[in-house]
Amino acid sequence: MTAIPILKQREQQIYEKGEAKDGRPFDMACDRHSLAGSVSQRACVFCGSRVVLYPIADALHLIHGPIGCAAYTWDIRGALSSGPQLHRMSFSTDLREQQVIFGGEKRLYQALCDLIDAYRPAAAFVYSTCIVGIIGDDVEAVCRRVSREKGIDVLPVHSEGFRGTKKDGYRAACDALFKLVGTGDTVGIQPASINILGEFNIAGEAWAIRDYYERMGVQVVSVMTGDSRVAEIRRAHGAALNVVQCSGAMTFLAERMTAEYGIPFIRASYFGIEDMAKALYDVAAHFRFDPTLQERAETLVRDAVNGIMPELLRIKADLAGKRAAVYVGGAFKAFSLIKALRLLGMRVVLAGSQTGNSDDYQTLRDMCDPDTVILDDANPLELSKYVIEKGADLFIGGVKERPIAFKLGIGFCDHNHERKISLAGFEGMLHLAREIHTTVTSPVWRFAPFRCKKE
Ligand code: SF4
Repeated sequence: MTAIPILKQREQQIYEKGEAKDGRPFDMACDRHSLAGSVSQRACVFCGSRVVLYPIADALHLIHGPIGCAAYTWDIRGALSSGPQLHRMSFSTDLREQQVIFGGEKRLYQALCDLIDAYRPAAAFVYSTCIVGIIGDDVEAVCRRVSREKGIDVLPVHSEGFRGTKKDGYRAACDALFKLVGTGDTVGIQPASINILGEFNIAGEAWAIRDYYERMGVQVVSVMTGDSRVAEIRRAHGAALNVVQCSGAMTFLAERMTAEYGIPFIRASYFGIEDMAKALYDVAAHFRFDPTLQERAETLVRDAVNGIMPELLRIKADLAGKRAAVYVGGAFKAFSLIKALRLLGMRVVLAGSQTGNSDDYQTLRDMCDPDTVILDDANPLELSKYVIEKGADLFIGGVKERPIAFKLGIGFCDHNHERKISLAGFEGMLHLAREIHTTVTSPVWRFAPFRCKKE
């Protein structure tokens, strides 16, 4: 097969770890706008903000823009709520030609008033999309007016898709959240207390993580934003520590809470045995004034690992030596997945992210095996090229990577917001191993056209 070429302008965002290249300084380009015409896998600013805010279950989420933007998030995601389900409704102002020409403020005002009257939300988020940025609607003014008239917080989210990268969407969401933080009371919050940031309760993962911390004796004041409520977010400034998952999404909020309320933060990942255990131990270490937290964490980890290890070892026997491609939103998740896949005897041959920064890529480079390809803001052609060239047996990614894997005739595991199976925590590690085992060892790949041609 002829080698698949890559675009010249993309070369600096692709790195192959190898003996020959390791002589030159590692300086991978990242944090830049996607190259026009390259068909980036990266989602837009609006999507970034929705990822962060959408799981707030008792809030109204109104997308100010054409209906197409709303379709992007129409109940396809797995963020669960233990109570209200309002977050699953993707409301849109459905802007059309007339509003694009004459402005969409009246329609926004009317939609907000009608929806607030109908659903009585605890707060409302209004997402600006590309067209709103172009026509220049004064979304702030409309939100202020409705907030005054209806007596609830109506928060504009400046997430016009073209404003930057998905990371700018995270920042816009954190700006909106920060307006809520500090507006509630902090009565009853104990000294060993945390906020869990960047955990979105996909398939109930936040419930498992929250349960671990509570079994250790740590109070969880809020989860932002998995299964969260507006009232919880309002009192989040009373927690003693912020535990931030995901490298990009909520670090902005954690930094602002440090500056404004003096709350320190640590980073954590809940994927894989090693990182999950570390997330618990790091919190225990922070509250070292209570040594029982550490003792309970050790017991919890020991029992949980003993419970899943026999099956993991059985699965490992089938997966040993298989190759995996990993392309995810945040690089922090990629770190955890590399460790988790190694535990299963697998080798990562491609690792990439949509939003990694230079520190993230340095870490990826250090932890990857020789010959691993590292990609920033990749496109389908590049991913296909390296999956083929590196002989991957498995692709771990999201909804946009799934067709690439299936077209190439290899196993796929969904590790994005659409997944319906919990992959975090100790139980999640077992689910991940089972998922990978099922897909990689499936006999169906023998019949994939790409494989048939090779054989
Ligand atoms: S905000 Fe812009 S880029 Fe994002 S989905 Fe809407 S039109 Fe597309």
